[in-house]
Amino acid sequence: MCPSVKNERDVIVIGGGHNGLACATYLARTGLDVLVLERRAKLGGAAVTDEPWPGFQVSTASYVMSLMPPQVVDELELKRHGYETSILAPDYFVPYEDGSYLSLWGDAVRCADEIAKFNKRDAQAYLEFDESLGRFGEMLHELMFVVPPNLTIAELPSWVKVATKLRKWSGRDIADIVRLFTMSGADFLDEWFDDERVKGALGTQAVLGAWTGPMSPGSAYVLVHHWFGEIDGHKGAWAAVKGGMSGISNAMASSARAAGAELRTDVDVRRVVITGDRASGVELADGTVVRAKQIVSNAHPKTTYLDLVGEAHLPDDAVRDIRRYRSRSGSVKVNLALNELPRPGGWDGPIPGDPHTGIFAISPSIEYLERAWDDAKYGRCSEAPYIEGVFPTVQYPGLAPDGKHLMLCFTQFAPIQTNAEWEQTRDWYGRNVIATIDKFCPGFAASVEHVQVVGPQDMEHEYGLLGGSISHGDMSPDQMFCFRPVPGYGDYRAPVKGLYLCGAGTHPGGGVMGVSGRNCATVVARDAKTTRQRVVERARKLARN
Ligand SMILES: Cc1cc2nc3c(=O)[nH]c(=O)nc-3n(C[C@H](O)[C@H](O)[C@H](O)COP(=O)(O)OP(=O)(O)OC[C@H]3O[C@@H](n4cnc5c(N)ncnc54)[C@H](O)[C@@H]3O)c2cc1C
Repeated sequence: MCPSVKNERDVIVIGGGHNGLACATYLARTGLDVLVLERRAKLGGAAVTDEPWPGFQVSTASYVMSLMPPQVVDELELKRHGYETSILAPDYFVPYEDGSYLSLWGDAVRCADEIAKFNKRDAQAYLEFDESLGRFGEMLHELMFVVPPNLTIAELPSWVKVATKLRKWSGRDIADIVRLFTMSGADFLDEWFDDERVKGALGTQAVLGAWTGPMSPGSAYVLVHHWFGEIDGHKGAWAAVKGGMSGISNAMASSARAAGAELRTDVDVRRVVITGDRASGVELADGTVVRAKQIVSNAHPKTTYLDLVGEAHLPDDAVRDIRRYRSRSGSVKVNLALNELPRPGGWDGPIPGDPHTGIFAISPSIEYLERAWDDAKYGRCSEAPYIEGVFPTVQYPGLAPDGKHLMLCFTQFAPIQTNAEWEQTRDWYGRNVIATIDKFCPGFAASVEHVQVVGPQDMEHEYGLLGGSISHGDMSPDQMFCFRPVPGYGDYRAPVKGLYLCGAGTHPGGGVMGVSGRNCATVVARDAKTTRQRVVERARKLARN
């Protein structure tokens, strides 16, 4: 690292993912001297835009916004720093092999009208379902900005505060939430709907980015996690970002700089330096040591605990728990450059039209999703994968050369394999995704000009997403809230004094939200203040004596 860098800071943030940037901004605004060190050449972690082919601006990993609460967008003044979105509508366009299709709209009445094409009873049920999920979303939202207390008697007062937040929850609400956390998405949808096509279209969100099938217990929660979001007051909406996902990360970086944080790229942190029982700095890959009073890690919890800190500095229970922490998702991003937009069989509307302006999903039934999962759980890539694709060039044509388009496909499943196995499978996987879309959109394969396949191994190597988990760890009840990443350390404080975690491996988990970064900053700032107060008190005492 450049020798002119000050080597004594208040806070060092390891990793310039969007959560690291959010954390740095909030901390710098409290007056702390904050340095962010990012290993890659680009800030944003899994929220970035790359140029794999000349003239094509591709959101290589994450691709749509929704989960970042408006409060974070406003507090960080992201719009002033260039963040701009365009809402995707319909939420989902799902084609079927017989040429029919279902569009799910953000507006519940319009959506119900569409469902009525297939099943009138389901259409009626949808209105109640939408309201119910909206309510679950709101209830869980209450917990989003909470710093989860640990499960100790000493933290009882904090639990009372959490309980106060939940005072509006009735006994019935709690029962419903418990059901959501324990039920499968399939069972949950069966309670509401009859038509397999409707359940397939809604079931997509029960498996999205999760190492689970729709018939697995717990998948109902995954569905609600994806219902949380909001764009410009539109609940549950998803949006494309101007400039691709670097559009959000660059705005966050600009906000961090404006707050006074220093951001450095191409700086690989090799380890957290520990003096006595306290984190006192970081050692970089070139051997430079930079000291700081507090260290925050945006890296995956396993990387932080086991690689950057090391088992020797951790209590035995933390070592055991972090080793057990599950981190998988089986997601594969297949980014395609097209010379024209596809026409689904049966779509005789305009191009671009509904199939291209929203999220295009191949998910004809729950059984289809479950069979995709069946392959993965027995160690094979899905023969018939779940695919959802967006066409960001419809909203922002500048992302590709004139007349060309991008289709960014988020697909499932590929189990984690050895590097050699994945190198042999990668091309097949990409071809299979294209062939699957071609079944629903005749002629599609011929329109594909470039293919980029980003599988679990690639996500691990390139972005540090261990096991290919898009959320820095499975989002299952035993790894959520105060148990994320491990019991006893869910309050963003790691088992080493002065060390904190701010990434998606902490509450509230995965997605481009910025909430982990924000919550962590409140804890770091509070501890910094307490330490400062202690130093002042000690100085006063010494002066008195
Ligand atoms: C394929 C894919 C699709 C997704 N789609 C969406 C989507 O559309 N919408 C959505 O909301 N979410 C999506 N997600 C999830 C979302 O992108 C992630 O959950 C989120 O970006 C995690 O942010 P983070 O800041 O916590 O961590 P990261 O983005 O992983 O950032 C961590 C940073 O730390 C850096 N780092 C790690 N170790 C070191 C070190 N030793 N020294 C220096 N730096 C280090 C890394 O390089 C990285 O930049 C997707 C994820 C993937 C992989």
